[in-house]
Amino acid sequence: MRDVFEVRTHDAGGRIGKLEVPRAGVTVETPALLPVVNPHVQTIDPSRLESEFGAEILITNSYVLHGSDDLREPALERGLHDLLDFSGAIMTDSGSFQLAEYGEIDVTTPEILQFQHDIGSDIGTPVDIPTPPDVSREHAAEDLETTKERLEVAADVDVGDMLVNAPIQGATYPDLREEAARHAYETDLDVFPVGAVVPLMNDYRYAEVMDVVAASKRGLGVDAPVHLFGAGHPMMFALAVAMGCDLFDSAAYALYARDGRYLTVRGTEHLDDLEYFPCSCPVCASHTPAEVRDLPETERYTRLAEHNLHVTFEEIRTIKQAIRQGNLLELVETRARSHPTMVDGYRTMLDHAAQLETSDPVSKTAFFYLSADSARRPEVLRHHERLDRLDAHGEILLAERGKNEAEFDESWKVVPPFGPYPRELVDMYPLSGELPSRLEPQAYEAAAEGVARLVDANPDAEFTLEYCDWPATALDAVPERVTVRNLYGE
Ligand SMILES: [Zn+2]
Repeated sequence: MRDVFEVRTHDAGGRIGKLEVPRAGVTVETPALLPVVNPHVQTIDPSRLESEFGAEILITNSYVLHGSDDLREPALERGLHDLLDFSGAIMTDSGSFQLAEYGEIDVTTPEILQFQHDIGSDIGTPVDIPTPPDVSREHAAEDLETTKERLEVAADVDVGDMLVNAPIQGATYPDLREEAARHAYETDLDVFPVGAVVPLMNDYRYAEVMDVVAASKRGLGVDAPVHLFGAGHPMMFALAVAMGCDLFDSAAYALYARDGRYLTVRGTEHLDDLEYFPCSCPVCASHTPAEVRDLPETERYTRLAEHNLHVTFEEIRTIKQAIRQGNLLELVETRARSHPTMVDGYRTMLDHAAQLETSDPVSKTAFFYLSADSARRPEVLRHHERLDRLDAHGEILLAERGKNEAEFDESWKVVPPFGPYPRELVDMYPLSGELPSRLEPQAYEAAAEGVARLVDANPDAEFTLEYCDWPATALDAVPERVTVRNLYGE
């Protein structure tokens, strides 16, 4: 059992947790955003990240400091917290990114971990091998062996109470990711970044990001804090949190600002295309886009970076509130509509509904059916699994409308997408959920799946289904031995 991370509240795979960072003497609430601070170019001063934006943790690159003629000695003498003027937790990267970009770096894992320790980092990182997507399986497996060896080396370096990252690699091969995660979890290391997903996100391959995260999560215990390394666009935070990610880092707030790009939870806008700011952060409330366009270059970058950071932190707070209220999946469903590839990401997440179901609370406030995808949510899956265990005796009516109790031994209710349930469960989550009156075929098909499971589990009972105009695809899934009646006639 790891004692640095404690999960307080779950919703689907998402959780609110507490990450204790002993060296900094702070506890970071997750999901958390780590702004990336470039030691040489500070778009927004770290002290402002803390006081104005509420950053509890940031990330900077120890490899850049290690190789810097002007910052290496000050970092060693004064320590990172003093150098950056930041009292929260500081995570440092190792140069793996530079390794991936340029093919080689000039430090080893023990050297860079020792350096991270010596400059006062609170969470250090070994030199793992970030394997890009789409390489051969052999290549990915070979890289992974090297990463595993380095994690074992890292676990043996004495770094006092500095926490250490255990990056998970394996490219786009789910079984390698799962194996990597299992190995990382077995070491004594503390935080688990899912690495090398940036190329996938740059190409909007959110479906594969979800598969990679799902596979990594399968190899990790619940007490493992998971960092989606390099994911800084607020559009996809809700999706990633729901799949089980706890930490995000954003270089995007500053990098995008330099390109005149303006982040929103629905995607990225270009400052040149904006006539209105769809945001009420301090920057957007006090400027028009035209005014920001007219600012001198440095000030324009700063204002855009401030907005980008405000919207990014706001989304983290929105997600935490959704977890508290038990409507994270409703938020995911809304965010997923911002881009077709996000829809793919959401649908891929639902392929892992059984995995999400294991941590999803049995009871929440309300289930909102918002689209055909809602029919595949973990709550629907759980109800279907419950139907396998429910006893039904004699002649049973399964009725979408009315009760017709006189003719039957028992009268159950049927509601798409859940299927049948005994009437006494009507006020129970998720059966108490809100549905639109116009539903897609998938909702009826899911209800029919529920009927089939109940019928299969009770071979001695007789069933009659009274439905209101179900599509043929749903009726086809109802077992043949069920008598069916359309309440709306022919
Ligand atoms: Zn704004």
